[in-house]
Amino acid sequence: MTCDVLVVGAGPAGSTAARVCASQGLRTILLEEHPEVGCPTHCTGKLSVHAFERFALPHSLIQTALRAAALYAPDGTVARVRRAEVDSYVVDRDPFDRYLAERAAEAGAEVITGARARTVTRLPGRGGLRVEVERRSRLAITAPLIIDAEGANPILPPQLGIRPRRTLVHGLQYEVTGAAVDDEEAPDLYFGRDIAPGFFAWFMPTGGDGGRLGLAVDPRMSDRPPVFYLERLKAAHPAVAPRMRKATVVRKLAGRIPILGLRRPTYADGMMVIGDAAGQVKATSGGGIYFSMLAGELAGNAAGRYLGQAGAAASRALADYERAWRAAFGREVRFTTVVRQTLNRLPDRHISAVIRALATDGGLRRAVEEHGDTQYQSRLFRPVLAAALRAGVRDVRLAPTVLAALAAVLLSLSGEGA
Ligand SMILES: Cc1cc2nc3c(=O)[nH]c(=O)nc-3n(C[C@H](O)[C@H](O)[C@H](O)COP(=O)(O)OP(=O)(O)OC[C@H]3O[C@@H](n4cnc5c(N)ncnc54)[C@H](O)[C@@H]3O)c2cc1C
Repeated sequence: MTCDVLVVGAGPAGSTAARVCASQGLRTILLEEHPEVGCPTHCTGKLSVHAFERFALPHSLIQTALRAAALYAPDGTVARVRRAEVDSYVVDRDPFDRYLAERAAEAGAEVITGARARTVTRLPGRGGLRVEVERRSRLAITAPLIIDAEGANPILPPQLGIRPRRTLVHGLQYEVTGAAVDDEEAPDLYFGRDIAPGFFAWFMPTGGDGGRLGLAVDPRMSDRPPVFYLERLKAAHPAVAPRMRKATVVRKLAGRIPILGLRRPTYADGMMVIGDAAGQVKATSGGGIYFSMLAGELAGNAAGRYLGQAGAAASRALADYERAWRAAFGREVRFTTVVRQTLNRLPDRHISAVIRALATDGGLRRAVEEHGDTQYQSRLFRPVLAAALRAGVRDVRLAPTVLAALAAVLLSLSGEGA
């Protein structure tokens, strides 16, 4: 088979890129290794309101709307924050991904499922790239341009010399019904090295008595698998166990999240890498759906320019993709990387002190409630730093935590790995 653009992976990144390519009249193939797009899913499905507005997503995909959060400290302190407006929605990734792939097909992309790309080679001269695909029968696809959207474990980019640095945290979730949910608008977040080393645990309400209880673990900080921590959270955490007493696990979702993974470039001659495959994820929360869709759109637009030009102008189109995504959200990826490294350096007593301050200091809580934007977390930095310093002056017990956090930020900025 031949086409203008081969998009590998029908997640949010790939389906968005395929739609944008096909709508420019490019002959586009979208490959998905699983027999059905969106299945199996691995994700919690929390998506900011920005994503719904920016991509005009239908509200029929929404399971529940969120405007609040409860933060559980390692020492048991709970801080609750509530914003005036809805901040995010929760979706089920299975129908969500199907919806995006259907939009790509409607725009003219050919969606081929049950087809796993295995190898990519450069053909001589202007022959383009040839991808060998594992399917019921052997399939080879030749295209001048590949958009790689394989998710957290891409196999094609290294074959063309693109080796993004990444750390993968390992996630696991139980989707439950029959849970005792006290606030459908507020996910619970649980912190602590004994709870989820290197990341955090959560209960994400999905409407009624449903939810996703999950966590992720950084394997550099623990050699135990996520299931050990998740079973313990479910059975023994003082806030979670009562909530789960009558719950039934209806689905288990597992996946990896690439964090701390930025390195130039995310393209090579004939290939752009997008979404999780490029490490376009917030390292604090692991959220990557919206950024992967933005990257898909930028790569789709760059594909049109790449194929419409030759020589240096074509190469510039790919470099423009890199510049464009870094301008759109690169700062957020960098900022959240520093915050994640900082959090991973702080002992539990300081995490507890921060959450205690949030619970007790009105100024700090208001700063979070007014300026908090889960999608663009760097906007929170100045107001929260100012409020934290004021809180540190008011309550001298917070001073060691503020100092430890500043020291950890400096170490993280100096580039030493967490
Ligand atoms: C436990 C967990 C919870 C998460 N929660 C959230 C959340 O609440 N909000 C949020 O924004 N993000 C969340 N994320 C992150 C989010 O899932 C990803 O950032 C997002 O899915 C990235 O989209 P993508 O299209 O780049 O990759 P993916 O969604 O992973 O899609 C990649 C697709 O490519 C296919 N594929 C892979 N290799 C090949 C191949 N060689 N040939 C053919 N097909 C291939 C895969 O089957 C898959 O369908 C979570 C992740 C995990 C693991």
